Amino acid sequence: MAESPTHTDPQPIDAILSDVYRQSLAADVGSVADYIPELSKADPANMGIAIATVGGQLHTIGDAETLFTIQSISKALTFCLALERLGRDAVSQRVGVEPSGDPFNAIELHPATRRPYNPMVNAGAITVAGILRDAFGADAFEIVHQRFSMAAGRTLSFNEAVFKSEEETGHRNRGIAHLLIGAGALELPADTALDLYFRQCSIEVTAIDLARIGATLANMGENPVTGKQVFDVTAVRDTLAVMFTCGMYDYSGNWAYDVGVPAKSGVGGGIMGVVSRQLGIGSYAPGLDPNGNSVRGVATFRALSDELGLHAFDPTNAGSGFIRTFFDRNTGDVRL
Ligand code: GLU
Repeated sequence: MAESPTHTDPQPIDAILSDVYRQSLAADVGSVADYIPELSKADPANMGIAIATVGGQLHTIGDAETLFTIQSISKALTFCLALERLGRDAVSQRVGVEPSGDPFNAIELHPATRRPYNPMVNAGAITVAGILRDAFGADAFEIVHQRFSMAAGRTLSFNEAVFKSEEETGHRNRGIAHLLIGAGALELPADTALDLYFRQCSIEVTAIDLARIGATLANMGENPVTGKQVFDVTAVRDTLAVMFTCGMYDYSGNWAYDVGVPAKSGVGGGIMGVVSRQLGIGSYAPGLDPNGNSVRGVATFRALSDELGLHAFDPTNAGSGFIRTFFDRNTGDVRL
């Protein structure tokens, strides 16, 4: 009698993932952020990658279930919520969509508009937090937390220690909030907007969560696993456009050129990438480069983009490479 198989060959996508993982581990470890004291406790050796498809499939490797704080990746999602709530025109009057070419925490506004350059720098994200606090009142954090959780498909935890640590030491962000108030870009007291901003940054995720949230954005705002519509379709389009041009700090131009995937990174060490209509990618490795991007995360995305042909303008894949090559929409199978 033939033995029933006890082992199936890994799918080729898993083989690619393990290759990319090995390559990325060979990259420098980088330096863990320590300007928020609590973040310095992260283990620089941690490294995890997850890919979630719009068909609901998940592929992971390494420390894909390690929790870390979402930090600036939250900025993309709160921008999406603000667009949805107020509409594009009203949001445009409060925050621009132009790359700044300056560090994320620069204490500056666009000289002509006196508004933040874009929602991915701190000045823009604090303004967006003000918009949401205005719109939702004291429930704003609960609403933000609930939407992030719906996008991930599970209730996300909150890191009180990181929140407190940033609240106690976030003087630069307080400076930015006061600049915004002075320019008329923020109408709330600084601490009210900052409370929401520091809280949204302290929501905990894993690489898997980032991949699932990315897949929700890739799937036009509908969580592919739960089937729930989490974000408005038009707001998702606008959010992805700003992630593409401004999502990777001062490396955004190089990123668009080399990786070609809308993405957002955070100083907690996470990167979330979105390949529209195809998949979400999450990576976690807390060692950062001087721009504030995860060194091994950048290495991961560069390699995955090459291996899977994910670049938005890749001529051989014309923006539908992953699905066309690997993914069968009818059966939900990855065919590699
Ligand atoms: N909470 C962090 C800050 O405002 C977020 C920075 C980031 O991830 O870029 O400094």
